[in-house]
Amino acid sequence: MAKHTVVLIPGDGVGPEVAHATRRVIDAAGVDFSWLEMPAGQGALAEFKDTLPECTLAALTQHKIGLKGPVGTPIGEGFKSVNVTLRKKLDLYAAVRPVRNLPHLKTRYENVDLVIFRENTEGLYSGIENEVTPGVVMSMKVATEKACDRIARYAFRYANRRQRKKVTVFHKANIMKLTDGLFLRCARRVWEQEYPNIQYEEMIIDNACMQLVKDPTRFDVLLMENLYGDVISDLCAGMVGGLGVVPGANIGDDCAVFEAVHGTAPDIAGKGLANPLACLMSGVMLLNYLHDTRHDATCKAAADRIKHAYDRVLTEGQTLTRDLGGTAGTAEFTAAILERL
Ligand code: NAD
Repeated sequence: MAKHTVVLIPGDGVGPEVAHATRRVIDAAGVDFSWLEMPAGQGALAEFKDTLPECTLAALTQHKIGLKGPVGTPIGEGFKSVNVTLRKKLDLYAAVRPVRNLPHLKTRYENVDLVIFRENTEGLYSGIENEVTPGVVMSMKVATEKACDRIARYAFRYANRRQRKKVTVFHKANIMKLTDGLFLRCARRVWEQEYPNIQYEEMIIDNACMQLVKDPTRFDVLLMENLYGDVISDLCAGMVGGLGVVPGANIGDDCAVFEAVHGTAPDIAGKGLANPLACLMSGVMLLNYLHDTRHDATCKAAADRIKHAYDRVLTEGQTLTRDLGGTAGTAEFTAAILERL
């Protein structure tokens, strides 16, 4: 029996293209994985009449680790978001998104090295909306002390372990005094009582956006509620080469699902053009997570080998996907990484 069973959810749009490329690279890096491919998204509807079938949730609950491609969500109508449901049902409360410049990839900014911590289970993603009267609708922003507290603690613990210097909380507590006020109070309390060694800063989200685009290097670890984290992740991705290079993890107390920040990229889906790097980097995060939580040294070795391989491809600069200024497709770029493993 393999050491780790990893649930693979290819998802929709470019999802299967980048997820399968990632699986090939991880397999070639020398790990003892058995992959359990499970359905979710539009592709699951026909067979299961559900975008997040029970069998997929059950597999994640059992094996506690997953790699997921993006899934599409209809805008303004239709079924509930698979992502929001998955994060809530499995209580994957911390979205962790490192945003860094990659070797030799020339982008608008240099020396960007940020880690975004996004609260993943509440805020305006509560899904509680109602029509008060025709023409008047409401959406409820939810904040609980428990959720605000645990995401703050998670971000500070990470900052402390990784020797990061500063945590900045983005908020709008001047307007949303109760919800964002609670988020701030919890962050401040965790800082004061548990991590006074780390610098702490609070910034109103609109000013934070301006400060980020002026000079992202003044920031280190960023901590925020759900919607701000969603928007700021894409903003920061734009600083380092776009959505094709920003990985992510959704982490709970005993389960984790790794996925790129990007969506299904309908404009390039099925054309073999997607950059698989963001998904592959999420796979590297998965390997490091297995090393940290299950103490499997082969996972750490595989993560390092994959990282060196894609760093070399980027540094050589001959085989880059179109979003990175090259002409290669998903298959060619993946083959270049496999060759250098
Ligand atoms: P998107 O991230 O799919 O695409 C935004 C832009 O980035 C597009 O131009 C796209 O071509 C480009 N891009 C994204 N990934 C890329 C990659 N790997 N390589 C090269 N270019 C890439 O955002 P969108 O268009 O706003 O959303 C499309 C769908 O995806 C929506 O249904 C949305 O709900 C869903 N979505 C899902 C997730 C998820 O499952 N985690 C995340 C975000 C959006």
